[in-house]
Amino acid sequence: MKAFSSLREIKNQISAGQTSCRDLVVYYLQNIESNRHLGAFLEVYAQDALQRAEQIDQKIQAGSAGRLAGAVIGIKDVFCYADHPLQCASQILDGFRSQFTATAIQRLLEEDAIIIGRQNCDEFAMGSSCENSSFGPVRNALDPELVPGGSSGGSAVAVQADMCLISIGSDTGGSVRQPAAFCGIKGLKPSYSRISRHGLAAYASSFDCVGILAKNIEDIALCLEIMAGADEYDSTVSSTEVPRYSQMLDFDRKSKIVYIEETVNSDKLQPEVKELFFEQLDWLRTQGHEIKSIHIPLLNYILPVYYILTTAEASSNLARYDGVRYGFRAKQNTHANKSVNQLIEMYKKSRSEGFGAEVKRRILLGTFVLSADYYDAYYTKAQKIRRLLKDETDKILNDNDFIVMPTTPTTAFKIGAHAQDPVQMYLEDLYTVQANVVGIPAISVPIGKDKAGMPIGFQIMTGIFKEAELLAFSNYLLENK
Ligand code: GLN
Repeated sequence: MKAFSSLREIKNQISAGQTSCRDLVVYYLQNIESNRHLGAFLEVYAQDALQRAEQIDQKIQAGSAGRLAGAVIGIKDVFCYADHPLQCASQILDGFRSQFTATAIQRLLEEDAIIIGRQNCDEFAMGSSCENSSFGPVRNALDPELVPGGSSGGSAVAVQADMCLISIGSDTGGSVRQPAAFCGIKGLKPSYSRISRHGLAAYASSFDCVGILAKNIEDIALCLEIMAGADEYDSTVSSTEVPRYSQMLDFDRKSKIVYIEETVNSDKLQPEVKELFFEQLDWLRTQGHEIKSIHIPLLNYILPVYYILTTAEASSNLARYDGVRYGFRAKQNTHANKSVNQLIEMYKKSRSEGFGAEVKRRILLGTFVLSADYYDAYYTKAQKIRRLLKDETDKILNDNDFIVMPTTPTTAFKIGAHAQDPVQMYLEDLYTVQANVVGIPAISVPIGKDKAGMPIGFQIMTGIFKEAELLAFSNYLLENK
């Protein structure tokens, strides 16, 4: 079977009797097996998927199948899926099984998607390279010595290497867009609150978004319209009406597009990425779109703001993993007295052994910025800058249609390259965090390759809840270029 690049193509073949959901599952399972060395999946639900495929094949025959019949989907290991393990790629959740299914995943299942397995990622979605998983790194299928990006790296590689059609990831500061860019696929982070977070393991709750990784925009649009919208289990989710994004992919307007000087003048930007970015802008100009450059000096603070606020929220969210309520508990001396001190020792030992180095670093940093003596100096200040950045970005997007920038400063780097230097790793998020800090939708689409043949991503952002415009514009860009 050849690789499929869209659900539309799959559906056509199913209607023509050339394939079936069962055939598709068998095909993807074979690909997963032959790509084991890439470390993309933590667990494959082979029997489940085959059984479901047969049921959905019958529904197709009966003409009662849902909109995602034929879509084989992988989910990042941060989503609850009832009766299946959930680990956030961490030892601390050893043995944990979900009692319910995340709303986003439930809605896909109701439309007859097939979930093929859970995918490797950075522990608790903290990282930009997928090296922070406690189950070993994920490797880029184009060059296994290179990282796939993170934290949804397993999800990106699974689509890249055709181990599933679509992956559902999470994006708190770029975790869908950055790996999509490194792997040469498309990745959408919707507006904050567009998709329910019920059943998504929390990292930084005021930033976390469910995101979609796929080979084409139509599949992203369809998954978005299915997952988005009001949910009684998430009080923060928006009830703004959900458009039929997949029916709104035509684009024939002339747009006002801006890029930000501070992003393209950064000394962190790889020359080939910059070159291709400007080539893309030149092309847009020749098509009659208006391209302008602007300054946002506040962007110099974007990474500190992001890392102060997300670590603060993470330190609070991850307090629940205490060795009592979920998963892993450190071994104890059972003959010792059962005292309060011993309980506290158990918490400490379980958390010290259960969490990996990066997660511990962030819990410590977050606890520090929230501590009484430093709260105003760090947390309050970062919140103020967040507000200023939001106001400024909203203003720009009131006057213009899109803000564009490279998705990442560099293409995929070598595994281990930033192992000793967390700040270098954080710099990889330079361009992706703005959308999360201000809550707007953003997408990464591939626009070419560097000299080594590694993909380069182009990032487009627009105003809150304007996903329809964002997807239509992305589609136009990809189809016409
Ligand atoms: N790389 C960023 C971080 O480590 C983003 C992660 C994410 O979006 N989950 O925080």
